[in-house]
Parts: sequence; C-alpha cells; structure tokens
Amino acid sequence: MAKSDVDVVVVGAGFAGMYLLHELRENGFTSRVLESGKDVGGTWYWNRYPGARCDIATTDYQYTWDPELHEQWTWSEKHAAQPEILEYAQFVAKKHDLYSGIDFEVKVESAEWDEVAKRWHVRTSTGETITCRHYVMATGCLSVPKDPDIAGTDRYRGPVYVTGRWPHEGVDFTGQRVAVIGTGSSAIQSIPHIAEQAKELVIFQRTPNFSVPTLNGPQPADRVARLKADRATYEDEARLSYSGVPIPPSTVSALATPRDEANALLEQSWQRGELLSVGATFMDAGTSRDANEVVAEFVRSKVRSVVKDPETAELLSPRGYPYGTKRPCMDTNYYQTFNLPHVRLVDLNTKPIRSITETGIDFGDESKEFDSIVYATGFDAMTGAIVAVDITGKDGLTLKQKWENGPLTYLGLTSVGFPNLYMITGPGSPSVLSNMMVSIEQHVEWIRDTLIDMRAKGLDTIEPTAMAEEGWRQHCADCADITLFQDTNSWYMGANVPGKPRVLFPYIGGVGRYRRICDEVRERDYLGFELAGSGKSSTNDGLVREIQPDVEMLLDAMAMLNLPPIESMSPPDARMFMEMSSAVRPPGPEVGEIIDGMLPGADGPIEYRLYRPPTPGPHPVVVYYHGGGWVIGSHTSDDPLCRELCVKSNVVIVSVNYRHAPEHRFPAAADDSFAALQWVAANAASLGGDPTRLAVAGWSAGGNVAAVAAQLARDNGGPSLKGQLLLTPAVDGSKEYSSMRENAEGYVLTKSLMDWFWDHYADPSDRSHPKASPLLAESLANLPPAVIVTGQYDPLRDEGDAYAAALKAAGVPVQHIQARGHTHTSVGMVDVLPSGRPVRDQMAAALRGFFV
Ligand code: NAP
Repeated sequence: MAKSDVDVVVVGAGFAGMYLLHELRENGFTSRVLESGKDVGGTWYWNRYPGARCDIATTDYQYTWDPELHEQWTWSEKHAAQPEILEYAQFVAKKHDLYSGIDFEVKVESAEWDEVAKRWHVRTSTGETITCRHYVMATGCLSVPKDPDIAGTDRYRGPVYVTGRWPHEGVDFTGQRVAVIGTGSSAIQSIPHIAEQAKELVIFQRTPNFSVPTLNGPQPADRVARLKADRATYEDEARLSYSGVPIPPSTVSALATPRDEANALLEQSWQRGELLSVGATFMDAGTSRDANEVVAEFVRSKVRSVVKDPETAELLSPRGYPYGTKRPCMDTNYYQTFNLPHVRLVDLNTKPIRSITETGIDFGDESKEFDSIVYATGFDAMTGAIVAVDITGKDGLTLKQKWENGPLTYLGLTSVGFPNLYMITGPGSPSVLSNMMVSIEQHVEWIRDTLIDMRAKGLDTIEPTAMAEEGWRQHCADCADITLFQDTNSWYMGANVPGKPRVLFPYIGGVGRYRRICDEVRERDYLGFELAGSGKSSTNDGLVREIQPDVEMLLDAMAMLNLPPIESMSPPDARMFMEMSSAVRPPGPEVGEIIDGMLPGADGPIEYRLYRPPTPGPHPVVVYYHGGGWVIGSHTSDDPLCRELCVKSNVVIVSVNYRHAPEHRFPAAADDSFAALQWVAANAASLGGDPTRLAVAGWSAGGNVAAVAAQLARDNGGPSLKGQLLLTPAVDGSKEYSSMRENAEGYVLTKSLMDWFWDHYADPSDRSHPKASPLLAESLANLPPAVIVTGQYDPLRDEGDAYAAALKAAGVPVQHIQARGHTHTSVGMVDVLPSGRPVRDQMAAALRGFFV
C-alpha cells in the first residue's frame, strides 16, 4: 500500500519524473509519482500521430545519468521515431524498477500548501490526499493540447483526431477525404503519412513554417566517433552549450559574408539534417533581422526548388517573421507532398474557416465535406499543464492567479508564495529552447541536491525572495530583448492561445549560461532564497545576474582571449592595440558626408573629423571628444558612435583629436578641447552648421574634457552651449569612489588601467583642479543642460552619478541615464551589443532635445 505522507510528490512520469524518481530513491527520500497516462514516456506516450519523430538526434536525446544504457541500448536511426523512444523509456523504467514507484491513471486535481504543517496536500482523481514536504511538477512543456479556437468544432459528426492525443491503436485514413488544420511540427511530420493513405487531403494553413529535412539514416558518424572517443567531454560540452547539443558557436557573420558564400555555408548546414544546424550557421542570425533574412531566403529557395506549383510554393514560404522565432520544423517529404494531385493547400488568410459543419468545413466561399478532421493546432505550452492543476500557495493565492499577466519564477524552478514547489523545465528556464534531455537532467539534479542540502541542515522550506524573482524576470527580459523573438506570433510568446499573456516564456540566455547560474545560486548559499526549519530561518536576498547578457558574453569571450592588460604596454603600443581592435568592429551607419580637417588647438593644429547627416542643413553642431584615458584614441577612434549620433540626432558632429598624454600632460587635453570648441563656434556656419545651436559631447576621458570645455565656455564668455552629453565620464580624479573598488576588475576598464591613465595625464597635485576634475569646480551653476550616462559595472559610475547629482543641485537641468547592466565601454559599442541600442537611442533623443 503506497504511503499517503511522503517527502516528495512528483507529477508526471515522462523523462523528468522517471529520472527524479530514481534520484529520490537513491538518496533515501520517500516519494509518490503520479501519472495520468497508462505508461511512462510523457510526450512520447501521448504523441503517437503518424510520423512522430524526435527532432534532436539520438546521439543527444538520451539519458546520460546511467552510463550502462549506452551499452545496453542502441538507437536504430539518427532521428528516432516515437515508438522507439517510448520503448527506450519503458526499457529504462524496467531496468531501474521505476514502475513500482509510479501510480498510473491518476490525475492531480489540486495541491494546497499548509503553512502550519509546512507541507503540501495533494488531492488526486482517485479521491486520495497525499501529504508531502516537496512538490514537483514534472508535467512537460507541451502536454496540454490547446482548445481549437475555431467556430463550429462541436458540430462535426465525423471522427476528429488531435495530434497530441492520438489513438493508441492508430488511424487508417485509406480512401478518406481528410482535413488537417495547422502546419506546425506535428502537422508537418504527419501530413506526408496521412497523404499516403487519404483519397483527398486538404491542409488548412494560417502561417507557413520553416522546415528543414530530417535526412534520416544512421547516427551522424562524426558525433558517434566523438562520443566513443570521449563521452564525458562530449556530454560536458552539451551541458555547457547554447542549446544542449555540442555544436560550436558560429563566428561567421551572415552580413559580412558574400551571399554566394553564405548560401554555400547554409547548404552544408542543410545537408547535416539537424534541427539546430541551419539556424546556427551564423553568429548574427538570432539578433539581426538582415542577417536572419539571409537564412530565411535560403530556406524559401529550398521550398521553391521542391514545390512545382509556384503559387503553392509561395504560400508555403514563410515571410514576415525571422527564422527561428517560431520553432523550426523537421520533415520527411513534407514539401514533396504538395506535388501530389490529391493534396491541396488552403491559405486561411485569404480563405478563412467560417465554421466547421456537421459534415465538413465552410471556408472562404467554399463548403467541403470531410470524412475525418485532424487538429494539429498545438498546445497551451509551458504553463498549461502547471496551471491545469489547482495549485494554492501561501495566503490562498493560486498559481493561476499569480501568473495572470505572465509566469513569474525564480530560475524557472520556483515561485514566490509557493514554498517547496519546483517546476522541471518551467517557464523562465531554457526548456523548449533546448535539448530537453539535457535540461531535464540539470533540473532534476538541482532539485535533488537542494533537497539533500536542506536535509543535511535540518531545513524544511525553501522559497525564493521577491527581489530574486523580479531580478530573474528582468534578466529573462534582458535576454529576450536582444533577440528577434518579440515581434513573432509564436507559442514561445503565448500568442497561439487567445488571452494568454504575451511574454517570451522560455529563458533564451542559453543552456550553459543557465546551468552556471543555477550552480552559482547553490554555491552562493542559495542566493535569492529564504530557507527555514526547526525554528531557524535565513534569507539570502540578492540578484544572481544583473549584467546585460550580451555584455557578459563579450566579457567571457574577451577573457578567453587572455589579452595583455593595456597598462602593461607602452603608450605607443597601447595606441596601436586600440587601432587594431577598432579595425575589426562594425563600421556604424552611413552618414551624408565625412570631412577630415585641421583646426587650431591650444598649442598648434589638431585634427578633426566632421560627420554630416544626409538631410539638408544647416544642422546643430556637436563638438565630440573621444575616449581613451587622455592617452590613446583619436578623432576617428569613436567613429561608429559618432556616425550613429550624427544620423540619429540629425546633427553635425565634429570629433576632435586633442593632444595626448604622456607626451602632453594636463592641461593639454583640456586646453585643446576648449580651443576646438571656440574654433568650431566661430566657424560653424562655414562647416554647414548653425552657430546658435552648439553642444559638446564625449565618452570617458572625452566626457571629462567635454565637461571641462562646458565650464570653460561658461567662465570665459562663451561660446554659448545648448547642452553637454557625457557618456560614462571621468569627472573626479581626486579620490576613489566605491564603484572603483566594486568594479575594479573584469569589466574592461579596470582600476589599474584607470590609475595608469591618470598617472600619464596628471600629477596627483593637479587632479583636484577643476580642469582635471570638473566635479570639483567651485560652482556648477549656469552650466548648459546635461545628459549624463553612467554604467552599473563601470569603475567611474559613482563619480558620474555624483556629477549628475551636483549639477542638479546647482540648478542645471540634468537627464541622468543609469545604464543597467552596462560597463564603461559597452553602451557605445554600435552594432556589437544590442543591449546598448536603447540607451544610445535615449542619448540621441536627448541630443536632439538640446536643440528644440
Ligand atoms: P504548433 O507548432 O503550435 O502548430 C500549430 C499549428 O496550428 C500552427 O500552424 C498554427 O498556426 C495552427 N493553428 C492553431 N490554431 C489555429 C486556428 N485557430 N486556426 C488555424 N490554424 C491554427 O503545434 P505543434 O505542431 O503541435 O508543435 C508544437 C511544438 O511541439 C513544436 O513547436 C515542437 O516544439 C514540439 N514538437 C516537436 C516535435 C519533434 O521534436 N519532432 C514534433 C511535434 C511537436 P499559427 O502558426 O498561425 O498559430
């Protein structure tokens, strides 16, 4: 007789529930696993439609926790079909005696947290109530078919089939007139098989999908060889990869590759016949629409090459959304099916379904009778199965109520108000954007280790903090914001279910990064969790990731390059190094005109570069000062940023090459900057600018001299300025702010590099002079309006913040942009870091605002 009071209740006996049951037993936890089906296998138990096949190759879609399985089980194909995967699940369940720990044909109806007993009460369809300390939803991401939201579905009197609930005995469509509604993965796999039997097949398509041929056959030889040579390394690579399959990240930009070469690379990927290969051909296909279009057009050309009727080929060709933002499909002879005379494609955009009728479907101006209707209309994904169970946490709040506006989780594993509730591959975890096997194992192991830790410390409850949950929501949104997913109507975004909140449900920061974060949470003593038991409780509040994801990725890549620190070089070498780094960056947008010239500095001529917008002038003029710690850089070194500011703000930019230290120490740079400003003001009209609309701007040390130039203009009778834009400026060299210690290392500009810059530029005794440290000016009143951008991970953050506050206190209008998750250098990296774009948009708008 199964116990009604256990340590852990697990809902679902798919691959997640099975592995968790094994681990709980191994570690001495009592458990009940409840499964609504009659057997193990989850997805592979329910999805028995013809042609159902795994899109991840069998080399990668298998358990790794039992090494014996690799000897005991041999996959017959590269992409296994549903019956074989189900057999594999059954084989594992038998081998490990899992059947004895699972209650089949039991549905969980509700689960309620008992705050006094610190236990969950789980009520089942058999009338039993099971009490448990921990409650795990291992219910899968795509397990609840969505209601077909089509008029008249209940009128039809013939047989209806739903791909996700296919009859176990199979269906024979021989001689029938069949309708298939939907063209997602399930439809694309089943249509060729249904077409083989049906007398007539009509496919109703709302949105065409991108599909890649499976090219099934034996397992890929290179993967098998790698697995045989060193399975442990292979599996580790998968665990730390982006998607849970060990494909090395691409370093090729589609935009920088001539089209014929790009197509040749795509052809190689196509021939691999793998879900992830085409999308992973280029590094920028996931973040740049133009790069993505190279991939999309290649796939469309493949459709055209197969489908003989050009009109049908065009209807089957996805347009208007980027490749990969709806889940790409894998097929065997899908497009070929449309060349068969008895197969017809109906475009629901021009011929919408008016109603399902008693005998068929009314669509467009037609009425057609069908012998069977197949709904391949998808799932209430990610959250459907979780909220289908009435889960009530603390204070009577249900998870459904809490998630009304979108799922809120910490790590996609836990949720505030629901102690000891865990979700395997829940929303906010990589889940459906990953190889599920890798993600399942990782979640099971995290939960197992957490339960072991809690037991060892005598702790009864674990619950995330509100701050950690909000921080995770923000991090997930930051990851999503730099991708192309947001604008596509996909089930990833909840768009397939009417009324569902529109957010990106899975975590898109990558499997490897996600694993590191989860590990870090445990290593940092359950950061973001409150743990309690036996009269003691501890809250370890905090945010596990605040840095912008693309910034983190770049920092990781730079760390791998192991570059020498700039401060270990001589100034000439440092300058050369910076020039070489600049040579490989994207150039920034086209401007109307670029003119290089010379202007009189404080002690001889200095160079400038003028950027003119393509619009008719005269334009406002902005004198720009480059970054580089007064030592490195030049009037051209911030070229992409100057171009972008020019075009986006519709201003002439004059970028000035002030003299550099150590050859020309303080106050040479400051004096040149002011001299350049005076010259530009006097010559604005001949430069095509409007002398009455003048401003200064600068980044880093350039922000320093821009601020100084604005003060000198105020104190020396002009020129009159409309504004000053200071991007992560150095404004006080006289003392060390806490951000200098907090961000001393690891964020490109380091404390030791900043010390090196100051040492080259100014003697310690000079650093309190306002021409070196404009924050220390006697008065900051009557300065032009300022826009100040500071970066969270910048050693100079606090002095920039202090300058913004001091200007405000002195009555200067200030717009202070605190760039969350950014470093000293990241905001200005045009076309490299998408997360900087919104900040630069704000900067550009502010610059325009100076002149209205
Ligand atoms: P899906 O991708 O959501 O496709 C549903 C299809 O039905 C779409 O074409 C959708 O059109 C259409 N549809 C939905 N409601 C409709 C309506 N009211 N009127 C007309 N058309 C409607 O669902 P799925 O094919 O079952 O696949 C879901 C996911 O399961 C896949 O993306 C994949 O992650 C997983 N899956 C994996 C495999 C595999 O690994 N081999 C196989 C099958 C499924 P719109 O696009 O316009 O919404």
